[in-house]
Amino acid sequence: MRYSTLAEVYEELEKTSKRLEKTRIVSKLLKKASDEELQMVMLLLEGRIYPAWDRREAGVATQMMLKAISHAVGTGINDVQAEWKMTGDLGKVSENLISKKKQATLRREELDVAKVFSNLRRLNEISGNGSVDRKIQLIAELLSSASPNEARYITRTVLQQMRVGIGAGTLRDAIVHAFIEEPNQNRRIAEQVQEAYDLTSDFGEVAKAIKSGGIKGIESIKLSIGNPIKVMLALKVDTIEEGFEKAGRPMQAEYKMDGFRVQIHKKDEDITVFTRRLENVTKQFPEIAEYAKKHVNGEEFILDAEAAGYDPKSKKYLPFQSISQRIKRKYDIERMATQFPVEVNVFDVIWHNGKNMISEPFRNRRKLIERIVEDRERKIRPSKKIVTDNDKEIEEFFREAKEMGNEGLMFKNLDAPYKPGARVGHMLKYKKTMENLDLAIVKAEWGEGKRSMWLSSYTIACRKGNKLLEVGKVSTGLKEKPEEGLSFDEMTKMLKPLIIGEEGKTAIVKPEIVIEVGYEEIQKSPTYESGFALRFPRIITMRQDKGIEDISSMEMVEQYYNEQKKTKK
Ligand code: ATP
Repeated sequence: MRYSTLAEVYEELEKTSKRLEKTRIVSKLLKKASDEELQMVMLLLEGRIYPAWDRREAGVATQMMLKAISHAVGTGINDVQAEWKMTGDLGKVSENLISKKKQATLRREELDVAKVFSNLRRLNEISGNGSVDRKIQLIAELLSSASPNEARYITRTVLQQMRVGIGAGTLRDAIVHAFIEEPNQNRRIAEQVQEAYDLTSDFGEVAKAIKSGGIKGIESIKLSIGNPIKVMLALKVDTIEEGFEKAGRPMQAEYKMDGFRVQIHKKDEDITVFTRRLENVTKQFPEIAEYAKKHVNGEEFILDAEAAGYDPKSKKYLPFQSISQRIKRKYDIERMATQFPVEVNVFDVIWHNGKNMISEPFRNRRKLIERIVEDRERKIRPSKKIVTDNDKEIEEFFREAKEMGNEGLMFKNLDAPYKPGARVGHMLKYKKTMENLDLAIVKAEWGEGKRSMWLSSYTIACRKGNKLLEVGKVSTGLKEKPEEGLSFDEMTKMLKPLIIGEEGKTAIVKPEIVIEVGYEEIQKSPTYESGFALRFPRIITMRQDKGIEDISSMEMVEQYYNEQKKTKK
């Protein structure tokens, strides 16, 4: 398939905000793709070259891109920069400059999707001496062969700024429309496709299976150990009564530990550990692999667990902040493991010794956990639980949980299956406090006076579908001295490479950094596009374990706004 076909599709997608229309456009494209191209096209449509859970990336920063464009069009870097200042969009810059150049020169080589895709992936493989120059050269070559609008999308893909606005829902529906006759007949089909995606986190694989075998083809999609699957998510309840209503009576209550979620896979003596974003963190947490090998019985398994940090001296649990720095750590891993150790609390099991546990009721899954996971304090253990039909007992357990430094309780429906990727209420959280929000930083303002070296005030946004909507600005919570915790300096260093534009003293940043934000109240406000503003917001911590697709939704903000009105009355 020509890359120009894909570029036309991006253009069409940009022109419409209608979900049905987008589905139609994408499904037409999928029909044209060969089996080999399907996987590439599915990723490229999302603006990716690797699946979301794969940590590899092109590794090309704005400055490198500016140079590559300059090479490709033979224009000085200052001119490219000037054009960038004007449009604020490097995709457009590429397009404009290539368009001017193309008028002056003649033929170009036709690009096809496979070639663009493999060259983009080569960017990740280039390392060592002179790698920057070789990357620039590779991009410049691609751009030289590109038409103006192809250049726009190649640039955006390299910089991971696709922005054509298609989400997982559209991709799923497009697969159904492309490969299943009379797709409207059955909502269940869309659900099945979604389930297959939640098992594999790979639309390419799902599309291929359905293309070759119709909806029956989906049955060939199996959970596979070593490939992360989407985790089941929790709904929130405000009272114990509501908990029983939703989870059934009796229900299981567990400590809600303030750690971070890990999915542990074991196969052929190999252990792999994934975060809730399905990122591989096996290296960062050597002790988790060790405990899973030594203290869990089974040739192969997939476990769902919370890794909670504790103080190595007092053995007391520590909040998430204290261990969050381990998640992306590339060096000093052993030292970090001794300084900030974690205890693994296993609360679910998805696979064990050849048996898929997903459809088993939770009570059976829990029985299995208790059979296979040894109770080793400050290493690994089944999560702390009670099963009861009594409100008072839950209240008592809640108090105990809080005293032990936990966030609250989780309530679990004893009869429910495991639903990957779904927030269906088989698992409920009960915290009793104002819920913090996880928000993306979309803009950052340079400070004044002694803060002038730092980006010190951050505009934060929640998510509505694929859109980001601003809900306020936050500038408290960070420290001026790095030894006191997450500092302005550290945040500035993280934000700087993400800058994609400027508005006076404000830098527009690629939304990648997720922070947890506390506040006194949510108010209605015309200032921000969400229609809400946070009163007295403060940064609680960085959420290294969350990506932009995991930030709080507009619905959550509305829900919390309505709930606070209720409690005030
Ligand atoms: P999300 O709802 O998107 O997961 P979050 O990460 O902020 O948001 P909460 O919603 O507050 O987390 O609570 C759900 C999380 O609680 C789980 O994802 C898991 O990481 C954690 N957790 C801690 N203890 C348990 C437990 N015993 N059972 C299930 N989850 C637990």
